[in-house]
Amino acid sequence: GGKYYSYMVRSAIPGGRISSEQLLAQLDLCDEVGNSTLRVTTRQGLQLHGVLKGNLKKVIRRINEVQLTTIAACGDVRRNVMCSPAPFKNNRVYDQLQAISDRIADETMPRTPAYHELWLTDDAGEKTLAGGGAPQEEVEPLYGPTYLPRKFKMGVALPGDNSADVYSQDIGLLGIVEGGEVVGYNFVVGGGFGVTPSASKTFARVASPLGYVPADKVLDVIKAVMKVQRDFGNRSDRKRARMKYLIHDWGAEKFKQKVEEYLGEGIEDSRPMNVNGHDDCIGWHEQGDGQWFYGLNIENGRIKDEGDFRLKTALREVCTSLAPPMRLTPHQGLVFCDIKAEDKERLKSILTSHGVPLSEQFSTVRRWSMACPALPLCGLAVTESERILPTMMDALEKELDSLGLGGERFTTRMTGCPNGCARPYNSDVGLVGKTKGKYTLFLGGRVEGDRLNWIYKDLVPEDEVVATLSPVLKHFKEGRHEGEAFGDYCDRIGRDALLAACDA
Ligand code: SF4
Repeated sequence: GGKYYSYMVRSAIPGGRISSEQLLAQLDLCDEVGNSTLRVTTRQGLQLHGVLKGNLKKVIRRINEVQLTTIAACGDVRRNVMCSPAPFKNNRVYDQLQAISDRIADETMPRTPAYHELWLTDDAGEKTLAGGGAPQEEVEPLYGPTYLPRKFKMGVALPGDNSADVYSQDIGLLGIVEGGEVVGYNFVVGGGFGVTPSASKTFARVASPLGYVPADKVLDVIKAVMKVQRDFGNRSDRKRARMKYLIHDWGAEKFKQKVEEYLGEGIEDSRPMNVNGHDDCIGWHEQGDGQWFYGLNIENGRIKDEGDFRLKTALREVCTSLAPPMRLTPHQGLVFCDIKAEDKERLKSILTSHGVPLSEQFSTVRRWSMACPALPLCGLAVTESERILPTMMDALEKELDSLGLGGERFTTRMTGCPNGCARPYNSDVGLVGKTKGKYTLFLGGRVEGDRLNWIYKDLVPEDEVVATLSPVLKHFKEGRHEGEAFGDYCDRIGRDALLAACDA
């Protein structure tokens, strides 16, 4: 027999908005042609794993038939546009965020007809089939003939709800609200977390301010920024091709001038704002029209049936019986929207009767944790991540409880290599796979996501992670200011003082 090539197929879902019909189609596909699991990604998308090459066309066609797409879920173009997902109704501000993220997604969609020719034709490669809403043009007005030097990420959020983690993106938008509506956005640019282990010229960067942009100019400024990266981003060294390096090398001032030149006008200074929240949408919330939404924690985003835990079957039942619209969250949760008061018990019992733990049963530390897939699914992984974080959480929960810190809200994010797919570089606790069984431990980020963390200790063996954190947590408990978060405390004390106190 010949070789079998297997693929990961990722769908881009702006703001994570997905219907029951769409989720059912993805669940069918993971059973028919995938590895029988589905993954909620850290960018509000969905991934199928283990798709054999011969099945790719069928999969992509079916995804397009339900009005989803895999275009721009990968490649040197803009990636899935993220948006703070809270599905409040009769809420002008969130409506505006979601509308602008859709517009950004539409207007920065690659126009190439090649995708349709390759994937959305019949088996003879002739007739173009249903679905795939993108216009088909031979020219790419935005991307040009060479596309971008590298992937390009965008997210939309509010200073009071930075759940879209905009400081990790190439372009982040933070809505400025006046009189109950978003009048414009503070733009931040040049975030990005990919690091190449052997290349010291690579680094994680949180986005820096570009300026304030009125709502009606948002698309013009986004396109100007993308064109500057298209024309000046590094195309000779792929490791230095993300826009963060261009801004680092040029400086923020020169970058802004170049964007203004492409835009043909000036950009105002950023408006004052206070980045102070992150709504993960978990649990029950009245959504503003008398109905409810329920945010379900999905540990590391993995939808599967395994032993008594039958989330996949539970979701099928929810989608066929209650058929709610849903949102995927940037912390790999799933929000069921438009639940009538009389259906709340029904939803709960579908979940619990399939062995799915309700969000209310999650500890705070587990609720705010996430991990990338790593072994065995990702070819770049050097350590475990998704498969080991749950066990590590068991131990960390015990430790926190024994210290009386069980209620502390802080983010723990783990990846199986320095590429940083689960955004470990702005979390309170970051665990980044360094070499077999060993992690670099980062401290000092925060839930709000606007600050990088720093290396506390390198090469920590997986079974010593909690023991290494334990003295730091004790120190925090004794020395914190009232209400001070764990990462804020670590950052205030600093690495050297923490090490001196905790690493005796
Ligand atoms: Fe793979 Fe590394 Fe990304 Fe994890 S962080 S999914 S190991 S590339």
